Amino acid sequence: MAAGRIETDWLSLAEMIEESAEVLAFTGAGISTECGVPDFRSPDSAWKRHPPIPFDAFLASQDARLEAWRRKFAMDDLYAGAQPGRGHAALARLHAAGKMPALITQNIDGLHQRSGIPDADVIELHGNGTYAHCLDCGGRHELQAVRAGIGATGAPPSCDCGGMVKSATVSFGQAMPRAAMLRARSATLSCDLFIVIGSSLLVQPAASFPLLAKENGARLVLVNREATPLDAAADLILRGDIGDLLDPLGRHPGSRPQASEKTPL
Ligand SMILES: [Zn+2]
Repeated sequence: MAAGRIETDWLSLAEMIEESAEVLAFTGAGISTECGVPDFRSPDSAWKRHPPIPFDAFLASQDARLEAWRRKFAMDDLYAGAQPGRGHAALARLHAAGKMPALITQNIDGLHQRSGIPDADVIELHGNGTYAHCLDCGGRHELQAVRAGIGATGAPPSCDCGGMVKSATVSFGQAMPRAAMLRARSATLSCDLFIVIGSSLLVQPAASFPLLAKENGARLVLVNREATPLDAAADLILRGDIGDLLDPLGRHPGSRPQASEKTPL
């Protein structure tokens, strides 16, 4: 298959969005880097100083659980002030305009919800780092209470049901959340335009969704700083700064992009 054409502005993407009946965005770390959220894969990432504890180690010892929480809070403190960026805002406009009923994200930062997309419409493949939950009953626990509890007792938190409390993210070695995977698949099969934003598409099952969309007849757009393994399957590739590329999208819904104008719609 021939590689999709590579462009450096938003005009073709705006046209494709207008032509489509249902858009599905799939976002990765690249949409949040301008917000100050560390990217797990970048070489100078703060994750390197606070590597996550694998799931089996978390389950195996109290010390590992305490250490997991220590690292979790150290990372949280680094991006406590993070606000949604221009890419998040553009996707929130698409959602508000009725073009994009839901989106899939690999991110755990909760910034899509903060940008105004209802929690129910954000499909989180790797969970959410802004709260915790019980591994047994699934009950929600707030991070502030967990942190205060650890400070007071020196012990990792546990639920009233006796279960272990863990950040609501998917750890290495932990099963992917089944409900989110099923919803992601269903959304992938119902869209006619699939837009990958800021994901290197190096990890499975992430990379399977764009290909599934493509096989199902949707058009595929990749918006990323770097090349990805799926470039050859894309109909359009936008290469550049994600915030710059997405910022003009959907500012004046209903108007058509003009090839000659460079100002926002
Ligand atoms: Zn519980």
